[in-house]
Parts: sequence; structure tokens; C-alpha cells
Amino acid sequence: MRTTMTQTGRTGPREECGVVGLYGVPAAARSAYLGLYALQHRGQESAGVVASDGREIRSAKGLGLLSEAIRPETPGRLPGHVAVGHVRYSTTGDLRVQNIQPLVIEYCDGLMAIAHNGNLTNARSLRGQYEARGSIFQTSTDSEVFAHLLADPAQRGCEDPMAAACRRVHGAYSLVMMTVDALVAVRDPFGFRPLSLGTLDGGHVVASETCAFDLLGAKFVRDVEPGEIVTIDGAGVRSRRFAEGHCRAQCVFEHIYFARPDSTVFGRNVHAVRVRLGENLAESAPADGDVVFAVPDSGNSAAFGYSQRSGIPLGVGFVRNHYVGRTFIAPSTAARVNGVKIKLNAVREVVRGRRVVVVDDSIVRGTTSKARMASLREAGAREIHLRISAPPIRFPCHYGIDFQSADELIAASRSPEEIAEFIGVDSLGYQTIDGMMAAVGGDGAGYCRACFTGEYPVPPEQGMGKHALQRQRAF
Ligand code: AMP
Repeated sequence: MRTTMTQTGRTGPREECGVVGLYGVPAAARSAYLGLYALQHRGQESAGVVASDGREIRSAKGLGLLSEAIRPETPGRLPGHVAVGHVRYSTTGDLRVQNIQPLVIEYCDGLMAIAHNGNLTNARSLRGQYEARGSIFQTSTDSEVFAHLLADPAQRGCEDPMAAACRRVHGAYSLVMMTVDALVAVRDPFGFRPLSLGTLDGGHVVASETCAFDLLGAKFVRDVEPGEIVTIDGAGVRSRRFAEGHCRAQCVFEHIYFARPDSTVFGRNVHAVRVRLGENLAESAPADGDVVFAVPDSGNSAAFGYSQRSGIPLGVGFVRNHYVGRTFIAPSTAARVNGVKIKLNAVREVVRGRRVVVVDDSIVRGTTSKARMASLREAGAREIHLRISAPPIRFPCHYGIDFQSADELIAASRSPEEIAEFIGVDSLGYQTIDGMMAAVGGDGAGYCRACFTGEYPVPPEQGMGKHALQRQRAF
């Protein structure tokens, strides 16, 4: 396969991912594989599972959805009681096999596998420092700097090399790592991304979201704390801190869009938060309508809350096709058909002649929403009132959600009225910041909401964007 990578391609460090790790569980690779099914919504670009039997590390990786990337029988051929798994967020551009995680590295202390969810804000300068000393990087992901930090004598000379390595990186990281006989889970000092700890079959499991525990039959124990390193090996579970005194900056967008509604994230059930978002939205952005429905699936819980609070009956105005694989839509087909309709179709009988209130979680670029609203008009909607359970997204995210430049955010440069006109709706109402914080249950303390306010808990490094670590390359 010949792939051409360019500075402008839609590839790069997009670490909006799902991670899972197991220790002391028979056939751990199988459980990791199953756990990744529950985390598939966090990444569809690639998947990988690495396992160890205490002596050797074996891995299976591939591009695409989990079922495409790794055949179901393959994890059975990765024996051992330790495993880590990773799913990576989808892109529309070229994919690079080298970027598939977990990264497996061989360094002076042995073998290690690293699975990372998050986005490092100083990866560019760290990588620059290593490259200036002659280090060779295999991937264009920010996660690879961890490998270099761990192998660096500057850290290895410290009493706690892992803690020393973590203190040198800035930004968002929920990490699950393994050696041949240990599992290590780390959460950055601000706790941007979730990471939970549980028990399973007398062993231990960590995962980005608790919905993975439900599928595995694991018992939730607690979240890995911000600034904590948890090591699990034959001696049991040990915890240590590598950073103290930081304010939490948990990503509020995990609650709004990214996490699954059946997960408990940052101590709160995601569905319940979204219902409250919908209720608060009905208060602050009421609409006269005959029916409320969601843009499925991301708007489902909020639409329920909006309907409950407004008293407008809940309907099903869109049906989603869950069976459209990424590979199905070849570019030639996509050019011919309305891509939005492949995934979502309006229910004419619900929409025709009615004033519809449509609830979605967010508007990023506005282009998908525009096409969806056009399909409602085509289906005969009399009036369309679009209600968004998040406030306007006006600032890029530097911590792992895929809106990394203000140019791609419609609300960065346009007012709600202008956006309503662009999208083609009769009215548009957004959540307020206060309504959002009330829904997650706080005054804003403990959450990162930089994409709405521009207040960044960790300043991004100059030039650190989604293509920052990528070079023009053909291979
Ligand atoms: P658009 O109208 O093009 O901005 O697309 C809005 C839709 O994108 C909404 O239904 C959101 O659920 C979805 N969405 C929100 N955030 C993201 C993200 N980071 N990546 C992909 N889709 C997203």
C-alpha cells in the first residue's frame, strides 16, 4: 500500500480515544477486546490489543472499526493475564498504520505498551528536544513522547521515573500502560479525560468509561484520581501521586457529547446530566412546537429532558441507520448520494405539516446540521426550531476533542441569528453556560469549558495543532 501523507491531510494527533487495561484476568486480551466494543464510540479509526503472559508481549492491531481491525478469534491467540486495548478516533483522510495504539516499545527496562487518551499540549517542543539529540520517532502521535521520556536517562535517574516523565508532559492524558507483568494507569493532574478502576474475576480493570465494565461484568471501584499513578501487579494495587494542588479541569464535553449515556463519568451518570441539560434548555430557550425529537443518538437524552420540562410531546422524527460502516461509503458513492441521509432519515409522518423542535447536542461546523435540517424541510416540516444542549462552541479544544481550530467553528465568527440563517431554521436556541454547569452539578469549578469560554486551564504550546507532528512523507 502506498500512502501519501501531507501537512494538510486529515490525519495527525487526534487523540479522542478509548482505553482499557486488565491485570490478573484469565484470557485478558479477550476481555480487552470486549471492553473495546463498549468504547467503540470513542474511536473508529483503528483498534489495537496487546497482551502478556508474563514473559512475552503479543499484539493485534488494525485500521477501522474494532470488528474490521481485529478478527474476533484473534484475541484468543494473545495469551496472558495482562492486556491493554485502544480505539482511536475516526478521520476522513489518510490513515497511518504506525499510529495505531497501543504503541509497543522496547527500551532498556524491557517491553512496554502504551495506550493514550487525550492531547499533550507540549508534545511539539518535547519531540523537538529529542529529535535535536538524534532520537527517531516512528509515529506522528503525541503519545510517542511518553516512550522517549520513559527511556530518557534524565527521568530514569530519578527515584520514580514514571512520575518524573509525567511531570514533563502538559495537557490531557489518561494513560493505560503495561509491562510484561504489570499494569499502570495514569491520569493527568487536571483530570481532563475520564479513567475508571474496577474489579473483574479476582483481577483488576481500568477503562475510559464504566460502560465497558458493564459489558465485562466488572465492578466499578473508583475513578483514577487526577495526578495519580495506579500500579497493579502481583503485589496488588498501589497508588501514588505525582502532582498535587491542581484544580480539576474535567472535560464538560464528555458529558455533553462524547461519553456514552450509560456511563458514569466524573462521578455522574451521563444520561442524567443530558436530561438535565434538556430541561434547562427548555427553560432558557423555549419554543412553540407540536413535537420534540432528537438528532439521534447524541441528542436523545436531552430531547427527553426538553420534552419533559416543556410539556411538548416527544416523538421520533429521525431514524438512524446503525449499520453504515465507514468503509461502505466509498468516495465515489459519497459524491453521488446525500451523505447525511445514509445515516439519518426523517420520518415523514412525524414531521409533515408540523412545527418541530429538534434537539441536538452541539453545532461545530454547522454543515451537517444544515443538511439534516434541509432533509426535515424536504419531509414537509412547517417550522423548524433547533435547540442545542451545549452553549455555542467558539474556541478550539487543545485537550483531545476534535475541534482544534477556530476557523472550523461556525460560532467563533457568527451570531446565533446568522447561524440560524446559515443552517436554515426558523429559530435557534443554545444552552447557557450557567444552564450547562447547573446540569453537571456545579458552579463551574472542576470542569474545563474552554471551548465555550476560551479560558484554558493549560496554555497550549505555539503551533500545537492537529498536524503539528506530521511531516510530508510518502511511504
Ligand atoms: P455540524 O452541524 O457539522 O457542526 O455537526 C454537528 C453534529 O456533529 C452534532 O450532531 C454533534 O453531535 C456532532 N459532533 C459534535 N462534536 C463532534 C466531534 N468532536 N466530532 C464529530 N462530531 C461531533
